[in-house]
Amino acid sequence: MENLNLDDSIKASKNILIISHVNPDGDTLGSMLALRDFIQLNYKKRPEMMVISKIPKMYEFLNGLKDAKHLTQYDNSMVYDLVILVDVAALDRIFNAQIFFEKAKIRACIDHHKTNNYKADIRFVKDEASSTGEVLCEIAENYGWKFDEKIAEALYTAILTDTGGFRFDNTRALTLKTASKLIAQGAKPQWIYKNCYEKKSKNFVMFQAYCLNKAEFAENDKIAYITVYKKDIEKFASEDDLTEGLVEKLRSMESTEVAFLLKEIDNKMFKVSMRSKNIDVAEVTSVFNGGGHKFAAGCVLKCSAEDCVKKLLTEIRKQEF
Ligand code: AMP
Ligand code: MN
Ligand code: MN
Repeated sequence: MENLNLDDSIKASKNILIISHVNPDGDTLGSMLALRDFIQLNYKKRPEMMVISKIPKMYEFLNGLKDAKHLTQYDNSMVYDLVILVDVAALDRIFNAQIFFEKAKIRACIDHHKTNNYKADIRFVKDEASSTGEVLCEIAENYGWKFDEKIAEALYTAILTDTGGFRFDNTRALTLKTASKLIAQGAKPQWIYKNCYEKKSKNFVMFQAYCLNKAEFAENDKIAYITVYKKDIEKFASEDDLTEGLVEKLRSMESTEVAFLLKEIDNKMFKVSMRSKNIDVAEVTSVFNGGGHKFAAGCVLKCSAEDCVKKLLTEIRKQEF
């Protein structure tokens, strides 16, 4: 699976940096924290953790994440012995932090995106795994790393959130076996579930209701989509990631084959989140330099909302559904 060995590389490194992806989710954050704690527990070294954008409030219960620093707090001249990217599908998902990766003496990548194709000295990329958390668990077991309750909690969160609560098609027998081991190591399923999904603010729920109300449909309701503007998000000001889970709500309709969410990040710049039941949306988004998984993928488009919709509908219609 790898050329250089991760265990030897950790032993040989004085300073280690772990980087998570932009718009962080439970998988990238949980894996980053678990890896930091694994290295601390098993090698007595304390890696740094970098985030590219704000940590959503729902993950603050993983309190080790308060040690993570934002990209802008780093000194660009710093050279790390080992830089590990977790759940990073493509290098543009870590923005300017790419320089730390490129300069590192050893570059490592732990991921599960089938579109992952950048170079690294150590690559653990398993697209059959539900999540980066699951890949990391396997690595830990192969190296015989010790676990503790905090590590189990972080990894369980990674797997729980990337499988939509063990419901998505990426949930395989090994996913549940891994989750079972994590529970045996001290992860508390109900407590983690409550923290992730039952602590939303009133504004979060009201915002989602507002967005669902303005959903649009095409191809006899087979395609469902929502455009969310910055001003909408500002109006409902909240510390939550207000669009979290929204595109899955569109997919939950029986009639929906493909759902997407356009989220304005800047003038004429939209982040696209796409989901499907059958067609390969990683293929659709890769046309626009994005990627992801068969049924969950994304990209960024630089044009007006109307043009984004046109472009996406044209690409989706090329697929058979
Ligand atoms: P999201 O819609 O942000 O939840 O992302 C769904 C999946 O697509 C995740 O696995 C992401 O890693 C992947 N993804 C989202 N945006 C991009 C992008 N711009 N480039 C590559 N992969 C992406
Ligand atoms: Mn992710
Ligand atoms: Mn993931």
